[in-house]
Amino acid sequence: MLDLSGGFLYTASFMQVRKIHLKSFGCQMNKLDSSLVVSALTEQGYSLTEKAAEADVIVINTCSVREHAEERVFSHLGHIKHLKKSRPSLLVAVIGCMAQRLGDQLLAHEVVDVVAGPAQLHEVPALIDRAMADHNKHLAVTGNIRQPATSEAVLEDSHKLDDFEIVHDSDANHIKSQAFIRVMRGCNNFCTYCIVPYVRGPEVSRPPQAIIEQAKKLAAQGIRQITLLGQTVNSYSYRSGNKTYTLADLLEKVSAIDGVHWVRFITSHPGRFDASILHVMADNPKVCPYLHIPAQSGSDRILKAMNRGYTARQYIDLMETAREIVPDIAIAGDFIVGFPGETEDDFQATEDLIRRVRYKNAFIFKYSPRPGTHSEKRLEDTIPAEVKQQRNVKLLDVISEIAEQDNKRFLGRTLQVLVEGPSKKPHLNRAENADHPQLIGRSAHDYIVVFNGPESLTGRFVNVTITKTAPLTLFADLT
Ligand code: SF4
Repeated sequence: MLDLSGGFLYTASFMQVRKIHLKSFGCQMNKLDSSLVVSALTEQGYSLTEKAAEADVIVINTCSVREHAEERVFSHLGHIKHLKKSRPSLLVAVIGCMAQRLGDQLLAHEVVDVVAGPAQLHEVPALIDRAMADHNKHLAVTGNIRQPATSEAVLEDSHKLDDFEIVHDSDANHIKSQAFIRVMRGCNNFCTYCIVPYVRGPEVSRPPQAIIEQAKKLAAQGIRQITLLGQTVNSYSYRSGNKTYTLADLLEKVSAIDGVHWVRFITSHPGRFDASILHVMADNPKVCPYLHIPAQSGSDRILKAMNRGYTARQYIDLMETAREIVPDIAIAGDFIVGFPGETEDDFQATEDLIRRVRYKNAFIFKYSPRPGTHSEKRLEDTIPAEVKQQRNVKLLDVISEIAEQDNKRFLGRTLQVLVEGPSKKPHLNRAENADHPQLIGRSAHDYIVVFNGPESLTGRFVNVTITKTAPLTLFADLT
């Protein structure tokens, strides 16, 4: 099997003759895209197989958010070269953000036959068929990615992929009890370091009816947790008749569906965050008390250079409001260290913000310039790699120290968790036995909870009592 970079894999076979292998890099949005592309291919007669070395078609879903992600794709293509040498009929399709960013350049790569951007993913099966039939290379990307789609036909096309029923997801070991639904595409924020607006285009929200219908279907199939997905999910806005539907409306409507037990949403932008979302969370026990809301920096100077559209004070006020409305809310964040010009004082301001907000967890990224973004064109990457690394380590330490203290509040508490399945890496401090292996569950606050129990609990909600806590994990006994 060709799994060279630690990303997740899908594989599928094409009738009795052709086999598909799909590899996906990047964020949750990409994982969803990959699952939907697999669904579209399955509808065309493809079916699952596990071996890339046997594949007639390899589909690679790419990420452009960090340089490293693109390097991994090129390295993967390099390895495919050997497969293609031994099987010249092998067809390679590169899809997603990198396809949109590099277009022809990627198509010129010796192993690549098809290139399709994020807005053209519904065309992938047809492009593959065409390339197989005419042995030519095929490119499908958006010419002017920032041009808002106005015609109904174009808008319908952009939603087409989302209507597919997911037949295979990235977390294949998990019983299908949870699903993602895209509620919007694209981003209008233009943070100066970010490539997303240039590869995924402007914000387009899906009609609420389509989202609700999809959620009903999923619930009827046994899905118990639904996560609403958008690059800036709180910007969801859809005008229908006299009403403009918001994320708060969607949360209410989806949580009212019979069978839906938990509803989540990711990722939020602090700039346009409406308190109505928090009120729905406070009033509706099905809306999980969890908020992923990246701050990126605690320094106003850096936030301005990043074009984030808020100050540190405004962000902290919003988090204080969140805790007033939803007292037990778990907050997760993202930060970038080493943004051009970040001084020790700027970095200290970020550490101060983290200590103030007290995150459940936060992802730290070392700044790397992305070609075509404002910061790449206008700002020099001034911070040495070793300083970025030190700042990265420091923030991780601070976050871990806070989480270690705050997670103790769960000791002795009984929590409901959705069981995801057996732990892939069993914790050594836990007993193991064949009938009750270590299981992983998620709490409503999005904590990973480890406990022993029968594997048959996978996909179900159970109550557990927390007996021990660590910065990233809670340990429990079945209640
Ligand atoms: S909000 Fe900023 S960081 Fe997030 S996707 Fe949009 S431009 Fe990128």
